[in-house]
Amino acid sequence: MRVSPARLWREKIYHYRLVATMCKKCGKKYFPPKVVCPLCGSKGLEKVKLPERGKVITYTVLHVVPRGFRENAPLIIAIIELEDGTKVLAPLTDVKPSEVSIGMPVEATLRKVFDEAEKGLIAYAVKFRPIL
Ligand SMILES: [Zn+2]
Repeated sequence: MRVSPARLWREKIYHYRLVATMCKKCGKKYFPPKVVCPLCGSKGLEKVKLPERGKVITYTVLHVVPRGFRENAPLIIAIIELEDGTKVLAPLTDVKPSEVSIGMPVEATLRKVFDEAEKGLIAYAVKFRPIL
């Protein structure tokens, strides 16, 4: 798992907060954010904050995960439909694979995603946890 600090820095704003970009021309939202709208080709995209609540549309359980993520295994990756209809791909946390269900309400939370201890590098990203 190679992660460049430049890339982390560039993407940090998007990882730390649930920020997407929205095309001002056609209204489509993108998460992770895009600079150019693939739908209409417009470059007029602006940052928008996404709702922090949604529900699980589908999910998959990864038992083999990359180095640095191993403490999180098994990793549950879900497609979550947020309250505004935006779909995001994100890991679930605070839940066992056997407890996850389609339609389960979830909310965004900031969690450590990997820890490259030898470089003193810890990255955080948005994960989703069940709303109890
Ligand atoms: Zn567009």
